[in-house]
Amino acid sequence: MRVLLVEDDDLIAHGIQAGLRARGLMVDGVKTAAQAAAMQSAVHYQVVILDLGLPDEDGMSLLQRWRADGMALPVLVLTARDAVEDRVAGLRAGADDYLLKPFDLDELVARLHALLRRAAGRSVAIIEQGALRLDPERGEVTLHGRPVVLSRRELSLLAALLHARGRILSSDQLKDSLYGLSEEIESNALNVHIHHLRRKLGADLIETVRGVGYRLNRVDT
Ligand code: CA
Repeated sequence: MRVLLVEDDDLIAHGIQAGLRARGLMVDGVKTAAQAAAMQSAVHYQVVILDLGLPDEDGMSLLQRWRADGMALPVLVLTARDAVEDRVAGLRAGADDYLLKPFDLDELVARLHALLRRAAGRSVAIIEQGALRLDPERGEVTLHGRPVVLSRRELSLLAALLHARGRILSSDQLKDSLYGLSEEIESNALNVHIHHLRRKLGADLIETVRGVGYRLNRVDT
């Protein structure tokens, strides 16, 4: 899961970034509404964490503009404002969920996963495709009931392919699921991780669609 974090408070932002990374999520942090808008249009994120009190614009008006433009990503709003009117206004502006500061990191992570499940139209945490099973919150994969140990990046890649449910993903989309902004991308990294996934889960699992990208094939039960 690749997360866009919009939070101008350094202390809170660093805490969230460290916590999410420790739990295997990719996070890009920005501090202003302008940076958030630019990043959101440039990178394929799965979810946005949005602080309402930003230096250049109220987070609520950024969210309203995003929704008016048809931006469909799940957005979790962070706020220090405990007023009911603010929550109602935020939900009207298009927020999918709310957390009041201060909050627990485990709760934040659980809610991000819940938003993703909702966005994918699923109500259970486990993603199954044929004999392949992924528990994204625990980072556990089984194939034909047997556990398979995957690295953090292999898990991200597999999750992105499973979320696509048979659609083709381009190399750029897959690379976005692998790396955060601050990380250096080795040019052949995607090929290497796909190679490892095929070795661990079967050569036919990930199909290369020449000149277009990759898609996940169903593993028969
Ligand atoms: Ca703030």
